[in-house]
Amino acid sequence: MSAGPEAIVIGGGLLGCASAAALAEGGARTLLVEREDLASGSSAPPNPRWGRRSSAGRSARRTFQVDPWQLTFAFARLARRRGATVRCGAEVVGLLREGEGILGVRLREGNVYAGAVVVAAGAWTAPLLEGAGLWAGAA
Ligand SMILES: Cc1cc2nc3c(=O)[nH]c(=O)nc-3n(C[C@H](O)[C@H](O)[C@H](O)COP(=O)(O)OP(=O)(O)OC[C@H]3O[C@@H](n4cnc5c(N)ncnc54)[C@H](O)[C@@H]3O)c2cc1C
Repeated sequence: MSAGPEAIVIGGGLLGCASAAALAEGGARTLLVEREDLASGSSAPPNPRWGRRSSAGRSARRTFQVDPWQLTFAFARLARRRGATVRCGAEVVGLLREGEGILGVRLREGNVYAGAVVVAAGAWTAPLLEGAGLWAGAA
């Protein structure tokens, strides 16, 4: 039976996957949980119309664009290569809180505990934190 995670990352977008890769690089047993598929939030593939519009009228000779969707998958691959577990279809329905501490997450199928929880749930970060009675701050 393998030991539980030391760090849990909520959200498989760009920030969540980058965080998981960094945590795994630092040696933490890392679990990333994403309720849908990787990059299904605002890290989703860009609408081609936005790309055309944003590239129109550029005067710089060399411009570079980072595709958040591809970058998300690159970080996810890196995280896995470094030993992180990436689980899609795993929705966090609540944070496990005791006093000032967050002990882990509540998934639909049960609780998972860890020493550190990173909430990288994009636009859904505030409701998750507020559900645990934490102030999410200004967005
Ligand atoms: C049109 C557009 C253009 C943009 N242009 C730029 C730009 O030029 N430069 C720039 O820096 N940024 C830009 N951004 C913003 C950038 O795309 C986002 O800041 C970045 O992708 C956000 O990544 P994220 O990981 O924080 O959130 P998201 O990609 O939204 O990821 C959050 C993930 O959390 C998951 N999740 C949510 N709740 C739960 C839960 N309860 N349990 C499990 N998983 C959960 C979601 O399914 C989602 O996959 C743009 C965004 C848009 C929409």
